[in-house]
Amino acid sequence: MGAVATLERTDSKVDTRRIDAARAAAVVALGNAYLPHEVEQPGGAPPLLLCWAGRIARAYDKLATAREDARRRGSKDDPAVKAIEAAIRKLEASYTAAASAAEDAASTWAALATAAGQSIDPASIYPPACTCDGCKTAALWHDHNEARGKYSDALYALLAPEPSARPPLFQMLEDFTKSEQDRDRFWAAMKGLYASAKGYDAACKAAGVQANWRMAMAPWVANLAWR
Ligand SMILES: [Zn+2]
Repeated sequence: MGAVATLERTDSKVDTRRIDAARAAAVVALGNAYLPHEVEQPGGAPPLLLCWAGRIARAYDKLATAREDARRRGSKDDPAVKAIEAAIRKLEASYTAAASAAEDAASTWAALATAAGQSIDPASIYPPACTCDGCKTAALWHDHNEARGKYSDALYALLAPEPSARPPLFQMLEDFTKSEQDRDRFWAAMKGLYASAKGYDAACKAAGVQANWRMAMAPWVANLAWR
């Protein structure tokens, strides 16, 4: 009886140590995958702190600029573009490897803890959302696309919600002189449109990109143009 109790105690101690070690390894691996690390800069500039996703977002930015530049110069198979594309493939492979190692380590910890009867919160070992410069820029870029989408939605809701539906704007203009409520409806629609346009304008300024008002009228083009 006493021997069994000792054995169980030893087992649970071993379990706890293994589970703690697995947890620590998972935290390190998740940090490698999702937290910023020092990135050497050319020309002796101080290293930048960027996570993998942030590095990739910045590389895509550079790629867009290089492609635009090559297009302007009429350069086909441009070496600068090719070099950035190759660099992106490498970054993406590194990120994928780091992320899959991290997810494996997290699963190992969760499986060990669960097998030992511990109740754990698998999300508790993940680092907070990264706010490195690359991620910040990517978020702003994402926001300006989102804002353009909202402005598109507002335009389409007024002008052509469906191919065969009479445009609500025309109806509102027709009803404008009928009653106070009809005029209120028109002005509410205009305010909504104005708010979404202002939102898009501000999001573009924050992201440091030129607004593209025509693209807002062709959301299918916007979806194709993104990368
Ligand atoms: Zn980041």
